[in-house]
Amino acid sequence: MQLIFCGLGTIFIGLAVLIKPVFYSQKYSITIDLSNVKWFLGPIFLCYGIYCLYISAKREGPEFTVEYWICPNCEELRKFVGNKTRYCKKCKKPLEKLNGFYKKQSVDTNK
Ligand SMILES: [Zn+2]
Repeated sequence: MQLIFCGLGTIFIGLAVLIKPVFYSQKYSITIDLSNVKWFLGPIFLCYGIYCLYISAKREGPEFTVEYWICPNCEELRKFVGNKTRYCKKCKKPLEKLNGFYKKQSVDTNK
């Protein structure tokens, strides 16, 4: 999750360098002029930011994949994106992931 903010922050810095390459600090009364290197520094920040976003999207992939959920009561199948707990509309019971549901059930009946 932090990588997303890191990526967005870096993209923001990259854009800031490209749009406004002259920074002036009132506190230290210094001016940093990046006009000469903005086409060099800006893209580096942008690329690094996009890279961070790409890595975080890859790492948190399961949050964006579609998974099948099943109601343990009426066994109705539903398709959802993400790991949030959902409830069956009919029975109001929390749904379980289909992946592993029947495995768990067969373990229970084997007892
Ligand atoms: Zn149900």
